[in-house]
Amino acid sequence: MKRIICLLAAAFLLTGISLYAKPRIRIIATGGTIAGVSTSPVSTAYSAGQVGIQSLIEAVPQLPLLADISGEQLVNIGSQDMNDAVWLKLAGRINELLNEEDYDGVVVTHGTDTMEETAYFLNLTVKSDKPVILAGSMRPSNAISADGPANLYNAVAAAVSPACRGVGVLCCMNNQLLDAKAVIKTHTIDCDTFEGGPSGIIGYIYNGEAHMLQTPNNRHTFRSVFDVSGLEKLPEVGIVYGYANASALPIKAFADAGFDGIVLAGVGDGNFYKDVFDVAVKAQENGIQIVRSSRCPTGPTCLNSEVDDEKYHFVASLDLNPQKARILLMLALTRTHDWREIQEYFKEY
Ligand code: ASP
Repeated sequence: MKRIICLLAAAFLLTGISLYAKPRIRIIATGGTIAGVSTSPVSTAYSAGQVGIQSLIEAVPQLPLLADISGEQLVNIGSQDMNDAVWLKLAGRINELLNEEDYDGVVVTHGTDTMEETAYFLNLTVKSDKPVILAGSMRPSNAISADGPANLYNAVAAAVSPACRGVGVLCCMNNQLLDAKAVIKTHTIDCDTFEGGPSGIIGYIYNGEAHMLQTPNNRHTFRSVFDVSGLEKLPEVGIVYGYANASALPIKAFADAGFDGIVLAGVGDGNFYKDVFDVAVKAQENGIQIVRSSRCPTGPTCLNSEVDDEKYHFVASLDLNPQKARILLMLALTRTHDWREIQEYFKEY
């Protein structure tokens, strides 16, 4: 009898502890201005990726109120140096943390220059519905009114929120939550630099709580077919910028180098100069997949508009800007070389 009472008491205690246990959140640091240091608190001259994960955590003593926090350093770079190898490592590590080590959510600290690309890559390759939130800053860690600590606090608040589950990878900047597919960096230096395209922000953080305004309707994370586990490299895809009287040299260089795909950051609705067009047609005939996108900051690149995509077997990027179209094309090429199937991916993801 005594033993039963003891067992019941222990079970009761354990249930109580787990009810009150804080969510376990892992912060993966990759560098960026949030980890940057400037020569003086008022100077714009600084280097990204200088301080480590422990300093980032210590700069926000309120984090333990939100979650059981731990961190690790994956790389410490300016995100202008982000590359496919780090993406593969990052996706693998997040999948491990969420699916094998039972963390409740992951926050990735990251430079803002390519944050939208990393967010979209993870949106297609993380296999979990748990929150994955990217945060960075526009001011270095020792600047007056550095925005990093508040962004990190908000990102952790998002990572512990059930409202941020199942909505794909989010960026948390300037009190706003932005979804990985739509988010774009729009200003070179302002703190209010990220926007969510035509659909706007997806939610906001207020008083340490996430409030969602809408849900993305594209496929992502736990519903994505793309699996990069076991991949050591990604197909090679380059971006060619469009402009009046454009030289065909860059597209020729990619084609001659044997790239697997080329994204055209075209003018208007994904149009490009005739010399570039001729090389693109040949490249497509030679098995290099061409995706038309646009240098315009807003609006879709429509299928079969001024360019007859069906005739040339080009793919239209639809809502994806060139840098995100590159990511989807790389992942699509890990599964198929059929332009119709690739176009379907652009409709779904
Ligand atoms: N160049 C920096 C980076 O992307 C800018 C930033 O983080 O805001 O790492």
